[in-house]
Amino acid sequence: MQPVQTISLSAAGNDSTPEQSWQSQLSGALRDPKALLAAVGLDERWLPGAEGGHHAFEVRVPQAYLSRIQKGNPNDPLLRQVLPLESEMHTVAGYVTDPLEEADHTPVAGLIHKYAARVLMITSGACAINCRYCFRRHFPYEDHAASRAQWGKTLDYLRHDDSLIEAILSGGDPLVSSDARLSWLVGELDAIPHLKRLRLHTRLPVVIPDRVDDAMLEWLGATRLQKVIVLHINHANEIDDSVMKACERLKGVGVTLLNQSVLLRGVNDNTEILAALSERLFEAGILPYYLHVLDPVAGAAHFDVPDHEARQLHEALRDRLPGFLVPRLVREIPGEQAKSPIEAWPVTPSSL
Ligand code: SF4
Repeated sequence: MQPVQTISLSAAGNDSTPEQSWQSQLSGALRDPKALLAAVGLDERWLPGAEGGHHAFEVRVPQAYLSRIQKGNPNDPLLRQVLPLESEMHTVAGYVTDPLEEADHTPVAGLIHKYAARVLMITSGACAINCRYCFRRHFPYEDHAASRAQWGKTLDYLRHDDSLIEAILSGGDPLVSSDARLSWLVGELDAIPHLKRLRLHTRLPVVIPDRVDDAMLEWLGATRLQKVIVLHINHANEIDDSVMKACERLKGVGVTLLNQSVLLRGVNDNTEILAALSERLFEAGILPYYLHVLDPVAGAAHFDVPDHEARQLHEALRDRLPGFLVPRLVREIPGEQAKSPIEAWPVTPSSL
Protein backbone atom coordinates (compact mmCIF):
# COMPACT_ATOMS: atom_id res chain seq x y z
CA MET A 1 0.00 0.00 0.00
CA GLN A 2 1.25 3.48 -0.79
CA PRO A 3 2.01 5.38 2.41
CA VAL A 4 0.73 8.68 1.09
CA GLN A 5 -2.78 9.06 -0.23
CA THR A 6 -3.64 9.69 -3.84
CA ILE A 7 -4.57 13.29 -4.54
CA SER A 8 -7.60 14.07 -6.62
CA LEU A 9 -8.90 17.46 -7.62
CA SER A 10 -12.01 16.89 -5.60
CA ALA A 11 -9.98 16.04 -2.49
CA ALA A 12 -7.93 19.19 -2.87
CA GLY A 13 -10.92 21.37 -3.70
CA ASN A 14 -10.92 22.52 -7.31
CA ASP A 15 -12.20 26.05 -7.05
CA SER A 16 -9.87 28.05 -9.33
CA THR A 17 -8.91 28.28 -12.98
CA PRO A 18 -7.81 24.76 -13.97
CA GLU A 19 -4.72 25.71 -16.05
CA GLN A 20 -3.22 28.09 -13.55
CA SER A 21 -4.52 26.88 -10.21
CA TRP A 22 -2.39 25.32 -7.54
CA GLN A 23 -4.87 22.45 -7.56
CA SER A 24 -4.11 21.58 -11.17
CA GLN A 25 -0.38 21.83 -10.48
CA LEU A 26 -0.91 19.49 -7.54
CA SER A 27 -2.87 16.91 -9.49
CA GLY A 28 -0.45 17.24 -12.42
CA ALA A 29 2.65 16.44 -10.35
CA LEU A 30 4.95 14.00 -12.08
CA ARG A 31 4.37 10.53 -10.64
CA ASP A 32 6.22 8.15 -12.89
CA PRO A 33 9.91 7.23 -12.44
CA LYS A 34 10.52 6.93 -16.16
CA ALA A 35 8.99 10.34 -16.80
CA LEU A 36 11.07 11.83 -14.00
CA LEU A 37 14.28 10.52 -15.55
CA ALA A 38 13.26 11.90 -18.94
CA ALA A 39 12.37 15.27 -17.44
CA VAL A 40 15.76 15.64 -15.74
CA GLY A 41 17.79 14.23 -18.64
CA LEU A 42 19.00 11.00 -17.04
CA ASP A 43 19.22 7.75 -18.96
CA GLU A 44 17.61 4.42 -18.16
CA ARG A 45 20.55 3.14 -16.12
CA TRP A 46 18.79 4.89 -13.24
CA LEU A 47 15.49 3.18 -13.92
CA PRO A 48 15.72 -0.06 -11.88
CA GLY A 49 16.52 1.88 -8.71
CA ALA A 50 13.91 4.52 -9.44
CA GLU A 51 11.22 1.93 -10.06
CA GLY A 52 12.18 -0.13 -7.02
CA GLY A 53 12.01 2.87 -4.70
CA HIS A 54 8.83 4.10 -6.35
CA HIS A 55 7.15 0.80 -5.56
CA ALA A 56 7.75 1.35 -1.82
CA PHE A 57 7.08 5.12 -1.79
CA GLU A 58 5.80 6.65 -4.98
CA VAL A 59 7.57 9.35 -6.93
CA ARG A 60 5.80 12.71 -6.78
CA VAL A 61 7.34 15.95 -8.07
CA PRO A 62 5.38 19.07 -9.06
CA GLN A 63 6.49 20.99 -12.13
CA ALA A 64 7.40 24.16 -10.23
CA TYR A 65 9.98 22.20 -8.23
CA LEU A 66 11.14 20.20 -11.24
CA SER A 67 11.97 23.45 -13.05
CA ARG A 68 14.64 24.24 -10.44
CA ILE A 69 16.54 20.98 -11.04
CA GLN A 70 19.65 21.15 -13.24
CA LYS A 71 19.14 18.82 -16.20
CA GLY A 72 21.59 15.98 -16.74
CA ASN A 73 23.03 16.24 -13.23
CA PRO A 74 22.30 13.14 -11.14
CA ASN A 75 23.84 14.91 -8.13
CA ASP A 76 21.59 17.92 -8.28
CA PRO A 77 20.65 18.56 -4.62
CA LEU A 78 16.96 18.98 -5.41
CA LEU A 79 16.84 15.89 -7.58
CA ARG A 80 18.46 13.80 -4.86
CA GLN A 81 15.55 14.64 -2.58
CA VAL A 82 12.97 13.18 -4.99
CA LEU A 83 14.71 10.51 -7.10
CA PRO A 84 14.43 6.96 -5.67
CA LEU A 85 17.72 5.10 -5.68
CA GLU A 86 18.45 1.41 -5.61
CA SER A 87 19.90 1.84 -2.08
CA GLU A 88 16.38 2.54 -0.77
CA MET A 89 15.70 -1.16 -1.08
CA HIS A 90 18.56 -2.19 1.20
CA THR A 91 17.65 -3.31 4.68
CA VAL A 92 19.82 -1.46 7.20
CA ALA A 93 19.88 -2.33 10.90
CA GLY A 94 18.24 0.36 13.03
CA TYR A 95 16.21 1.86 10.18
CA VAL A 96 12.55 1.22 10.85
CA THR A 97 9.10 2.16 9.58
CA ASP A 98 8.12 4.32 12.61
CA PRO A 99 11.40 5.85 13.83
CA LEU A 100 9.70 8.31 16.18
CA GLU A 101 7.27 5.75 17.62
CA GLU A 102 4.36 8.05 16.83
CA ALA A 103 1.92 5.16 17.01
CA ASP A 104 2.35 5.30 20.82
CA HIS A 105 1.18 8.92 21.00
CA THR A 106 -2.10 8.99 19.12
CA PRO A 107 -4.90 9.33 21.74
CA VAL A 108 -7.36 10.08 18.92
CA ALA A 109 -6.98 9.06 15.29
CA GLY A 110 -5.37 11.92 13.40
CA LEU A 111 -3.84 13.54 16.49
CA ILE A 112 -0.33 13.15 17.92
CA HIS A 113 0.22 14.42 21.46
CA LYS A 114 3.87 14.00 22.39
CA TYR A 115 4.90 17.34 23.86
CA ALA A 116 3.53 19.60 26.59
CA ALA A 117 1.12 22.40 25.59
CA ARG A 118 0.91 21.47 21.90
CA VAL A 119 -0.66 18.84 19.74
CA LEU A 120 -0.16 17.88 16.14
CA MET A 121 -3.11 17.25 13.85
CA ILE A 122 -2.65 15.04 10.80
CA THR A 123 -4.59 17.40 8.59
CA SER A 124 -3.96 15.60 5.33
CA GLY A 125 -2.40 12.31 4.34
CA ALA A 126 -1.14 13.66 1.05
CA CYS A 127 1.84 15.74 0.01
CA ALA A 128 2.61 17.80 -3.07
CA ILE A 129 6.05 16.21 -3.22
CA ASN A 130 7.35 12.93 -1.91
CA CYS A 131 10.71 13.40 -0.23
CA ARG A 132 12.80 10.26 -0.15
CA TYR A 133 14.07 10.93 3.39
CA CYS A 134 10.60 11.50 4.89
CA PHE A 135 10.29 10.01 8.37
CA ARG A 136 6.57 9.47 7.71
CA ARG A 137 7.07 7.63 4.42
CA HIS A 138 5.55 4.52 6.04
CA PHE A 139 2.96 6.34 8.19
CA PRO A 140 -0.44 4.60 8.07
CA TYR A 141 -2.37 7.63 6.86
CA GLU A 142 -5.31 5.42 5.97
CA ASP A 143 -5.87 4.94 9.74
CA HIS A 144 -5.93 8.70 10.29
CA ALA A 145 -8.34 9.81 7.58
CA ALA A 146 -8.71 13.58 7.60
CA SER A 147 -12.50 13.71 7.49
CA ARG A 148 -14.66 16.27 9.26
CA ALA A 149 -15.88 13.53 11.61
CA GLN A 150 -12.31 12.73 12.59
CA TRP A 151 -11.49 16.41 12.99
CA GLY A 152 -14.53 16.71 15.25
CA LYS A 153 -13.02 14.18 17.68
CA THR A 154 -9.67 15.91 17.50
CA LEU A 155 -11.29 19.27 18.24
CA ASP A 156 -13.10 17.78 21.23
CA TYR A 157 -9.74 16.60 22.56
CA LEU A 158 -8.35 20.11 22.22
CA ARG A 159 -11.40 21.73 23.81
CA HIS A 160 -11.13 19.50 26.89
CA ASP A 161 -7.43 20.02 27.60
CA ASP A 162 -6.83 23.60 28.65
CA SER A 163 -3.09 22.99 29.04
CA LEU A 164 -2.87 23.16 25.26
CA ILE A 165 -1.86 26.50 23.78
CA GLU A 166 -0.72 25.54 20.31
CA ALA A 167 -2.29 23.53 17.51
CA ILE A 168 0.06 22.24 14.83
CA LEU A 169 -1.31 21.31 11.44
CA SER A 170 0.86 18.72 9.78
CA GLY A 171 0.52 15.71 7.55
CA GLY A 172 1.38 14.82 4.88
CA ASP A 173 1.07 18.46 4.04
CA PRO A 174 -1.84 20.40 5.59
CA LEU A 175 -1.96 22.85 2.68
CA VAL A 176 -3.01 20.06 0.31
CA SER A 177 -6.45 20.46 1.90
CA SER A 178 -8.87 22.89 0.30
CA ASP A 179 -9.23 26.42 1.60
CA ALA A 180 -12.85 25.69 2.49
CA ARG A 181 -11.82 22.85 4.82
CA LEU A 182 -8.91 24.74 6.31
CA SER A 183 -11.00 27.82 6.83
CA TRP A 184 -13.55 25.76 8.74
CA LEU A 185 -10.91 24.00 10.81
CA VAL A 186 -9.02 27.16 11.71
CA GLY A 187 -12.32 28.81 12.63
CA GLU A 188 -13.01 25.97 15.07
CA LEU A 189 -9.51 26.27 16.56
CA ASP A 190 -9.93 30.02 16.79
CA ALA A 191 -12.98 29.49 19.02
CA ILE A 192 -11.07 27.42 21.60
CA PRO A 193 -10.17 30.06 24.20
CA HIS A 194 -7.02 28.48 25.63
CA LEU A 195 -5.33 28.16 22.22
CA LYS A 196 -2.91 30.98 21.39
CA ARG A 197 -0.99 29.75 18.41
CA LEU A 198 -1.54 28.04 15.10
CA ARG A 199 1.45 26.39 13.48
CA LEU A 200 1.61 24.79 10.06
CA HIS A 201 4.37 22.51 8.83
CA THR A 202 4.41 22.60 5.08
CA ARG A 203 6.48 22.36 1.93
CA LEU A 204 3.74 23.60 -0.38
CA PRO A 205 4.74 27.30 -0.51
CA VAL A 206 8.15 26.03 -1.67
CA VAL A 207 7.21 23.31 -4.11
CA ILE A 208 4.05 25.01 -5.52
CA PRO A 209 4.35 28.69 -4.55
CA ASP A 210 1.00 29.44 -6.22
CA ARG A 211 -0.60 27.67 -3.23
CA VAL A 212 -0.22 30.99 -1.39
CA ASP A 213 -3.18 32.65 -3.08
CA ASP A 214 -5.88 35.10 -2.04
CA ALA A 215 -8.18 32.36 -0.74
CA MET A 216 -5.51 31.00 1.57
CA LEU A 217 -4.47 34.41 2.82
CA GLU A 218 -8.09 35.20 3.64
CA TRP A 219 -8.57 32.45 6.26
CA LEU A 220 -5.02 32.74 7.50
CA GLY A 221 -5.29 36.48 7.93
CA ALA A 222 -8.66 36.25 9.67
CA THR A 223 -7.71 34.16 12.69
CA ARG A 224 -6.94 35.77 16.06
CA LEU A 225 -4.34 33.05 16.67
CA GLN A 226 -0.67 33.89 16.30
CA LYS A 227 0.50 32.23 13.13
CA VAL A 228 3.72 30.36 12.53
CA ILE A 229 4.58 28.51 9.35
CA VAL A 230 7.52 26.14 9.47
CA LEU A 231 8.81 25.54 5.97
CA HIS A 232 10.97 22.57 5.12
CA ILE A 233 13.80 23.70 2.86
CA ASN A 234 17.08 21.85 2.59
CA HIS A 235 19.01 23.76 -0.07
CA ALA A 236 19.22 27.38 -1.24
CA ASN A 237 18.34 26.33 -4.82
CA GLU A 238 14.82 25.56 -3.60
CA ILE A 239 14.17 29.28 -3.04
CA ASP A 240 13.53 31.03 -6.35
CA ASP A 241 11.71 34.29 -6.98
CA SER A 242 8.29 32.65 -6.84
CA VAL A 243 9.07 31.27 -3.37
CA MET A 244 10.32 34.70 -2.26
CA LYS A 245 7.03 36.21 -3.39
CA ALA A 246 4.96 33.57 -1.59
CA CYS A 247 6.91 34.26 1.61
CA GLU A 248 6.35 37.97 1.27
CA ARG A 249 2.59 37.41 0.97
CA LEU A 250 2.56 35.19 4.05
CA LYS A 251 4.42 37.79 6.08
CA GLY A 252 1.88 40.33 4.86
CA VAL A 253 -0.85 38.61 6.91
CA GLY A 254 1.28 38.39 10.03
CA VAL A 255 2.85 34.95 9.65
CA THR A 256 6.17 34.24 11.34
CA LEU A 257 8.26 32.11 8.98
CA LEU A 258 10.70 29.54 10.28
CA ASN A 259 12.60 26.80 8.51
CA GLN A 260 13.66 23.34 9.47
CA SER A 261 16.06 21.37 7.34
CA VAL A 262 17.26 17.82 7.43
CA LEU A 263 20.99 17.22 7.16
CA LEU A 264 21.21 14.98 4.12
CA ARG A 265 24.20 13.25 2.57
CA GLY A 266 24.68 14.48 -0.97
CA VAL A 267 22.24 17.38 -0.54
CA ASN A 268 23.52 19.78 2.11
CA ASP A 269 26.32 18.00 4.03
CA ASN A 270 28.72 20.86 3.48
CA THR A 271 29.38 24.10 5.38
CA GLU A 272 29.27 26.28 2.27
CA ILE A 273 25.90 24.88 1.27
CA LEU A 274 24.42 25.22 4.76
CA ALA A 275 25.70 28.80 5.07
CA ALA A 276 24.25 29.68 1.65
CA LEU A 277 20.93 28.15 2.74
CA SER A 278 20.79 30.28 5.90
CA GLU A 279 21.63 33.43 3.94
CA ARG A 280 19.01 32.69 1.30
CA LEU A 281 16.38 31.88 3.93
CA PHE A 282 16.97 35.22 5.60
CA GLU A 283 16.68 37.02 2.27
CA ALA A 284 13.24 35.42 2.00
CA GLY A 285 12.31 36.52 5.53
CA ILE A 286 12.60 33.02 7.00
CA LEU A 287 14.57 32.28 10.15
CA PRO A 288 16.64 29.07 10.21
CA TYR A 289 15.19 27.16 13.15
CA TYR A 290 16.26 23.52 13.20
CA LEU A 291 18.80 21.43 11.38
CA HIS A 292 17.67 17.87 12.04
CA VAL A 293 19.83 14.84 11.74
CA LEU A 294 18.10 12.14 9.77
CA ASP A 295 15.43 10.12 11.51
CA PRO A 296 16.29 6.47 10.94
CA VAL A 297 13.45 5.59 8.62
CA ALA A 298 13.63 2.46 6.49
CA GLY A 299 14.71 3.32 2.94
CA ALA A 300 16.62 6.49 3.79
CA ALA A 301 19.90 5.22 5.27
CA HIS A 302 21.91 6.51 2.30
CA PHE A 303 21.13 10.08 3.43
CA ASP A 304 22.68 9.62 6.86
CA VAL A 305 25.40 11.95 8.13
CA PRO A 306 27.03 10.62 11.33
CA ASP A 307 26.79 12.71 14.49
CA HIS A 308 30.47 13.59 14.70
CA GLU A 309 30.36 15.00 11.17
CA ALA A 310 27.11 16.84 11.89
CA ARG A 311 28.75 18.49 14.91
CA GLN A 312 31.77 19.54 12.86
CA LEU A 313 29.55 21.07 10.19
CA HIS A 314 27.52 22.88 12.79
CA GLU A 315 30.59 24.26 14.53
CA ALA A 316 31.94 25.53 11.21
CA LEU A 317 28.59 27.16 10.57
CA ARG A 318 28.73 28.91 13.94
CA ASP A 319 32.16 30.25 13.05
CA ARG A 320 31.00 31.95 9.89
CA LEU A 321 27.41 33.09 10.50
CA PRO A 322 25.75 35.42 13.02
CA GLY A 323 23.95 33.46 15.70
CA PHE A 324 20.47 34.18 14.36
CA LEU A 325 21.36 32.42 11.10
CA VAL A 326 22.60 29.24 12.78
CA PRO A 327 19.85 26.65 13.15
CA ARG A 328 19.83 24.42 16.21
CA LEU A 329 21.27 21.02 15.46
CA VAL A 330 18.83 18.50 16.88
CA ARG A 331 17.46 15.03 16.73
CA GLU A 332 14.10 13.75 17.82
CA ILE A 333 14.25 10.92 20.32
CA PRO A 334 11.10 8.91 20.93
CA GLY A 335 9.75 9.55 24.42
CA GLU A 336 11.68 12.83 24.99
CA GLN A 337 9.69 15.97 25.88
CA ALA A 338 11.39 18.11 23.22
CA LYS A 339 13.91 17.93 20.41
CA SER A 340 17.33 16.99 21.73
CA PRO A 341 20.35 19.14 20.89
CA ILE A 342 23.01 16.97 19.29
CA GLU A 343 25.57 18.54 21.62
CA ALA A 344 23.74 16.86 24.50
CA TRP A 345 23.61 13.51 22.76
CA PRO A 346 25.97 11.06 24.42
CA VAL A 347 29.01 10.27 22.34
CA THR A 348 29.36 6.54 21.96
CA PRO A 349 31.91 4.50 20.03
CA SER A 350 29.27 3.81 17.40
CA SER A 351 28.57 7.51 16.87
CA LEU A 352 32.24 8.37 16.31
S1 SF4 B 1 6.51 17.12 2.20
FE1 SF4 B 1 7.07 16.62 4.33
S2 SF4 B 1 5.61 15.01 4.93
FE2 SF4 B 1 5.55 15.16 2.68
S3 SF4 B 1 7.01 13.62 1.94
FE3 SF4 B 1 8.12 15.59 2.10
S4 SF4 B 1 9.04 15.54 4.14
FE4 SF4 B 1 7.42 13.98 4.12
